[in-house]
Amino acid sequence: MSGSCLFCDIVGGTAPACVVFEDDAAMAFLDLYPVHRGHTLVVPRAHVSDLTDCPPATAAHLFVVCARLAPHIVAEVGAHGFNVWTANGKAAGQEVFHLHLHVLPRFNKDSFGLRFPESYPQEAARAELEAMAARLRTRM
Ligand SMILES: [Zn+2]
Repeated sequence: MSGSCLFCDIVGGTAPACVVFEDDAAMAFLDLYPVHRGHTLVVPRAHVSDLTDCPPATAAHLFVVCARLAPHIVAEVGAHGFNVWTANGKAAGQEVFHLHLHVLPRFNKDSFGLRFPESYPQEAARAELEAMAARLRTRM
């Protein structure tokens, strides 16, 4: 997919990146537009558009890489915690359509965060949760 996918170009070595980890299946590099210092992206070497397009073993491996990297990133930048986050689809905020997991260092009282709707938090009705869970179980 080289030439039409920035992350394939990075994996293929034709676009620059500050690589912090790589193995046969994954690569991790610093985000060019970091939310905070140390903000790192973990990608599969093989092009897949998002998590729904990713073989389960590769998805599991990416998460393992995130778990290995995160404590080192936290220590390096003196963070107080971290998020592992991925966007799937434009509606979810995905901008590069090559699966990537963000390892995002977090600091006490930093200004980054999810925006919840004004109605949140509102406890869901148990019957609605049971019905939803039943429908989802049939889809699995
Ligand atoms: Zn790609």
